Amino acid sequence: MGGCHSYPSATKADKKSLQPPDFSSEKLGINNNNLEERPYLQQQYVCQLITHTDMLALTALPPGVDKAEWLASNTVAFFKHINLFSSALSEFCTPTTCPTACGPGNTVYVWTDDHGRKLKCSAPLYFDYAMSYVQELLTDEDVFPTKAGSVFPTGFIFLVQKVFLLFFRTLAHIYWSHYRETLALGLHPQLNTLFTHLTLFCRQHALLEPEDTEPLQDLITALGQQC
Ligand SMILES: [Zn+2]
Repeated sequence: MGGCHSYPSATKADKKSLQPPDFSSEKLGINNNNLEERPYLQQQYVCQLITHTDMLALTALPPGVDKAEWLASNTVAFFKHINLFSSALSEFCTPTTCPTACGPGNTVYVWTDDHGRKLKCSAPLYFDYAMSYVQELLTDEDVFPTKAGSVFPTGFIFLVQKVFLLFFRTLAHIYWSHYRETLALGLHPQLNTLFTHLTLFCRQHALLEPEDTEPLQDLITALGQQC
Protein backbone atom coordinates (compact mmCIF):
# COMPACT_ATOMS: atom_id res chain seq x y z
CA MET A 1 0.00 0.00 0.00
CA GLY A 2 0.95 3.60 -0.22
CA GLY A 3 0.97 6.12 -2.97
CA CYS A 4 3.83 6.55 -5.34
CA HIS A 5 3.49 10.30 -5.50
CA SER A 6 5.18 12.84 -3.38
CA TYR A 7 2.81 15.22 -1.60
CA PRO A 8 4.35 18.44 -0.39
CA SER A 9 2.98 19.85 2.82
CA ALA A 10 0.29 22.49 2.88
CA THR A 11 0.02 25.70 4.77
CA LYS A 12 -1.22 28.31 2.36
CA ALA A 13 -4.78 28.97 1.31
CA ASP A 14 -5.80 27.91 -2.12
CA LYS A 15 -7.63 30.31 -4.37
CA LYS A 16 -9.91 27.65 -5.68
CA SER A 17 -13.30 27.24 -4.13
CA LEU A 18 -13.72 23.66 -3.06
CA GLN A 19 -17.31 22.96 -2.25
CA PRO A 20 -17.90 19.27 -1.80
CA PRO A 21 -21.43 18.12 -2.51
CA ASP A 22 -23.75 17.39 0.34
CA PHE A 23 -23.88 13.63 0.72
CA SER A 24 -27.08 13.23 2.60
CA SER A 25 -28.70 9.94 3.36
CA GLU A 26 -32.13 9.01 4.55
CA LYS A 27 -33.70 5.96 6.03
CA LEU A 28 -36.31 5.14 3.42
CA GLY A 29 -34.55 2.51 1.45
CA ILE A 30 -35.24 -0.85 0.07
CA ASN A 31 -33.17 -3.63 1.49
CA ASN A 32 -32.68 -5.49 -1.73
CA ASN A 33 -30.67 -8.16 -0.03
CA ASN A 34 -33.57 -8.82 2.33
CA LEU A 35 -31.30 -10.30 4.94
CA GLU A 36 -32.14 -9.03 8.35
CA GLU A 37 -29.83 -11.64 9.79
CA ARG A 38 -26.81 -9.75 8.45
CA PRO A 39 -24.67 -12.71 7.41
CA TYR A 40 -21.50 -10.62 7.55
CA LEU A 41 -21.81 -10.75 11.33
CA GLN A 42 -21.63 -14.52 11.49
CA GLN A 43 -18.60 -15.63 13.43
CA GLN A 44 -17.27 -17.95 10.73
CA TYR A 45 -17.04 -14.98 8.33
CA VAL A 46 -16.08 -12.18 10.71
CA CYS A 47 -12.92 -13.96 11.77
CA GLN A 48 -11.63 -14.15 8.21
CA LEU A 49 -9.05 -11.58 7.24
CA ILE A 50 -6.14 -11.93 4.83
CA THR A 51 -3.69 -10.72 7.43
CA HIS A 52 -3.59 -10.35 11.19
CA THR A 53 -1.00 -7.60 11.02
CA ASP A 54 -1.49 -4.84 13.56
CA MET A 55 -3.53 -2.61 11.28
CA LEU A 56 -3.87 0.12 13.87
CA ALA A 57 -0.09 0.55 13.74
CA LEU A 58 -0.30 0.75 9.92
CA THR A 59 -2.72 3.65 10.09
CA ALA A 60 -0.69 5.85 12.45
CA LEU A 61 1.19 8.84 11.10
CA PRO A 62 4.82 7.75 10.71
CA PRO A 63 7.33 9.96 12.53
CA GLY A 64 8.52 12.86 10.43
CA VAL A 65 5.79 12.54 7.79
CA ASP A 66 3.54 15.49 7.07
CA LYS A 67 -0.06 14.71 8.03
CA ALA A 68 -1.59 16.00 4.77
CA GLU A 69 0.87 13.89 2.77
CA TRP A 70 -0.01 10.83 4.81
CA LEU A 71 -3.75 11.41 4.31
CA ALA A 72 -3.23 12.01 0.59
CA SER A 73 -1.15 8.92 -0.10
CA ASN A 74 -3.59 6.75 1.85
CA THR A 75 -6.55 8.28 0.02
CA VAL A 76 -4.95 7.30 -3.29
CA ALA A 77 -4.25 3.77 -2.05
CA PHE A 78 -7.75 3.22 -0.63
CA PHE A 79 -9.26 4.57 -3.85
CA LYS A 80 -7.37 1.97 -5.88
CA HIS A 81 -8.31 -0.89 -3.57
CA ILE A 82 -11.98 0.08 -3.32
CA ASN A 83 -12.25 0.53 -7.07
CA LEU A 84 -10.71 -2.88 -7.63
CA PHE A 85 -13.03 -4.47 -5.13
CA SER A 86 -16.15 -2.80 -6.56
CA SER A 87 -15.24 -3.77 -10.09
CA ALA A 88 -15.00 -7.42 -9.02
CA LEU A 89 -18.68 -7.19 -8.02
CA SER A 90 -19.92 -4.74 -10.66
CA GLU A 91 -21.79 -7.34 -12.71
CA PHE A 92 -24.03 -7.97 -9.68
CA CYS A 93 -24.77 -4.32 -8.98
CA THR A 94 -27.14 -3.10 -11.69
CA PRO A 95 -30.10 -0.69 -11.81
CA THR A 96 -32.34 -3.78 -11.65
CA THR A 97 -30.72 -5.49 -8.68
CA CYS A 98 -30.04 -2.22 -6.86
CA PRO A 99 -32.60 0.44 -7.85
CA THR A 100 -31.52 2.54 -4.86
CA ALA A 101 -28.09 3.11 -3.34
CA CYS A 102 -28.79 1.50 -0.01
CA GLY A 103 -26.73 0.55 2.97
CA PRO A 104 -27.34 -1.24 6.26
CA GLY A 105 -30.48 -0.40 8.19
CA ASN A 106 -32.28 0.54 4.98
CA THR A 107 -30.32 3.74 4.66
CA VAL A 108 -30.57 5.26 1.20
CA TYR A 109 -27.72 7.39 -0.10
CA VAL A 110 -28.91 10.34 -2.14
CA TRP A 111 -26.51 12.08 -4.48
CA THR A 112 -26.51 15.87 -4.52
CA ASP A 113 -25.29 17.40 -7.75
CA ASP A 114 -23.26 20.58 -8.26
CA HIS A 115 -26.46 22.65 -8.22
CA GLY A 116 -27.67 21.22 -4.91
CA ARG A 117 -30.29 19.02 -6.52
CA LYS A 118 -30.85 15.72 -4.77
CA LEU A 119 -30.84 12.80 -7.15
CA LYS A 120 -32.26 9.51 -6.08
CA CYS A 121 -30.40 7.09 -8.24
CA SER A 122 -29.57 3.43 -8.57
CA ALA A 123 -26.61 2.08 -6.66
CA PRO A 124 -24.36 1.68 -9.72
CA LEU A 125 -25.08 5.27 -10.73
CA TYR A 126 -24.52 6.62 -7.21
CA PHE A 127 -21.19 4.85 -6.85
CA ASP A 128 -20.24 5.87 -10.36
CA TYR A 129 -20.83 9.51 -9.38
CA ALA A 130 -18.93 8.95 -6.15
CA MET A 131 -15.86 7.39 -7.76
CA SER A 132 -15.80 9.96 -10.56
CA TYR A 133 -15.98 12.75 -7.99
CA VAL A 134 -13.07 11.24 -6.05
CA GLN A 135 -11.04 10.61 -9.19
CA GLU A 136 -11.54 14.22 -10.24
CA LEU A 137 -10.21 15.40 -6.88
CA LEU A 138 -7.26 13.03 -6.95
CA THR A 139 -6.18 14.20 -10.38
CA ASP A 140 -6.64 17.88 -9.56
CA GLU A 141 -3.18 19.27 -8.92
CA ASP A 142 -4.73 22.08 -6.81
CA VAL A 143 -6.31 19.58 -4.42
CA PHE A 144 -3.85 16.68 -4.38
CA PRO A 145 -0.60 18.33 -5.39
CA THR A 146 2.19 16.07 -6.56
CA LYS A 147 4.77 18.61 -7.70
CA ALA A 148 7.58 19.80 -5.47
CA GLY A 149 6.79 23.14 -3.88
CA SER A 150 3.01 22.83 -4.24
CA VAL A 151 0.79 23.11 -1.22
CA PHE A 152 -2.40 21.41 -0.11
CA PRO A 153 -5.47 23.66 -0.21
CA THR A 154 -7.22 25.07 2.83
CA GLY A 155 -10.03 22.74 3.73
CA PHE A 156 -8.11 19.73 2.47
CA ILE A 157 -9.11 17.72 5.55
CA PHE A 158 -12.82 18.34 4.87
CA LEU A 159 -12.47 17.00 1.35
CA VAL A 160 -10.63 13.96 2.65
CA GLN A 161 -13.49 13.40 5.12
CA LYS A 162 -16.03 13.53 2.27
CA VAL A 163 -13.94 11.10 0.23
CA PHE A 164 -13.71 8.61 3.09
CA LEU A 165 -17.44 8.87 3.65
CA LEU A 166 -17.93 7.79 0.04
CA PHE A 167 -15.42 4.97 0.48
CA PHE A 168 -17.25 3.84 3.60
CA ARG A 169 -20.61 3.90 1.82
CA THR A 170 -19.24 1.90 -1.09
CA LEU A 171 -18.18 -0.88 1.27
CA ALA A 172 -21.40 -0.53 3.30
CA HIS A 173 -23.44 -1.17 0.16
CA ILE A 174 -21.34 -4.23 -0.64
CA TYR A 175 -21.84 -5.65 2.85
CA TRP A 176 -25.56 -4.94 2.74
CA SER A 177 -26.49 -5.87 -0.81
CA HIS A 178 -23.71 -8.02 -2.21
CA TYR A 179 -22.43 -10.09 0.65
CA ARG A 180 -23.72 -13.33 -0.86
CA GLU A 181 -21.82 -12.69 -4.08
CA THR A 182 -18.74 -11.70 -2.07
CA LEU A 183 -18.93 -15.02 -0.24
CA ALA A 184 -19.49 -16.92 -3.48
CA LEU A 185 -16.36 -15.35 -4.94
CA GLY A 186 -14.42 -16.09 -1.75
CA LEU A 187 -13.61 -12.40 -1.37
CA HIS A 188 -14.97 -11.92 2.16
CA PRO A 189 -11.50 -12.04 3.82
CA GLN A 190 -10.35 -9.29 1.45
CA LEU A 191 -13.49 -7.26 2.17
CA ASN A 192 -13.09 -7.62 5.94
CA THR A 193 -9.43 -6.64 5.72
CA LEU A 194 -10.09 -3.60 3.54
CA PHE A 195 -12.99 -2.50 5.73
CA THR A 196 -11.01 -2.97 8.96
CA HIS A 197 -8.08 -0.98 7.57
CA LEU A 198 -10.41 1.77 6.35
CA THR A 199 -12.34 2.13 9.60
CA LEU A 200 -9.17 2.10 11.71
CA PHE A 201 -7.62 4.71 9.46
CA CYS A 202 -10.74 6.89 9.77
CA ARG A 203 -10.79 6.50 13.53
CA GLN A 204 -7.09 7.29 13.84
CA HIS A 205 -7.48 10.51 11.84
CA ALA A 206 -11.04 11.47 12.87
CA LEU A 207 -12.38 11.27 9.32
CA LEU A 208 -15.90 9.97 9.96
CA GLU A 209 -18.62 10.96 12.39
CA PRO A 210 -20.24 8.32 14.60
CA GLU A 211 -23.51 8.73 12.70
CA ASP A 212 -21.69 7.92 9.44
CA THR A 213 -20.37 4.62 10.72
CA GLU A 214 -23.41 3.74 12.85
CA PRO A 215 -25.08 1.52 10.19
CA LEU A 216 -22.11 -0.85 10.38
CA GLN A 217 -21.12 -0.30 14.00
CA ASP A 218 -22.06 -3.90 14.83
CA LEU A 219 -19.59 -5.14 12.23
CA ILE A 220 -16.87 -2.68 13.29
CA THR A 221 -17.22 -3.94 16.86
CA ALA A 222 -17.17 -7.59 15.77
CA LEU A 223 -14.10 -7.09 13.58
CA GLY A 224 -12.38 -5.13 16.36
CA GLN A 225 -12.55 -8.20 18.53
CA GLN A 226 -10.66 -10.19 15.91
CA CYS A 227 -7.53 -8.10 15.69
ZN1 LIG B 1 -25.57 -2.97 -5.61
